[in-house]
Amino acid sequence: MICKNCGTEANNGETFCPVCGAKLADETTGKVENPASISPTAVMVWGIVAASLGASGLIGLIISIIARKKSKQYLNEGGIICGQSKVGSILSKVGLGLSIGFMIFWTIYIIAIIAAFAIGGFATTQVVDSYSSFIY
Ligand SMILES: [Zn+2]
Repeated sequence: MICKNCGTEANNGETFCPVCGAKLADETTGKVENPASISPTAVMVWGIVAASLGASGLIGLIISIIARKKSKQYLNEGGIICGQSKVGSILSKVGLGLSIGFMIFWTIYIIAIIAAFAIGGFATTQVVDSYSSFIY
């Protein structure tokens, strides 16, 4: 019997491929069953949502963490690596990177705005004070 995932020839009667661990095709049906409880399509969809919402900050971060968990769960359960699961895994990382990047950006931006107002406000008070003391 030949593993449909990696092409290794496995002994007949083996349930899992000795090389990649993929579940081997059922001899009666010839159908390869994916052992993971989550489908590769679901992994991909979570990745797409994570990457799309990455720039939204906190929501993107939460969705990306869920997407990473789904992707890892798929691998841990011996899910067969395919295009969809790979895309899901890569996009969940993209989402994670984007959301963390944007959160850092906005935090620095807000701190800079507050600092600008604080310094600006202080400067204005100084100017008004010296102006007042000049007049009076
Ligand atoms: Zn294999």
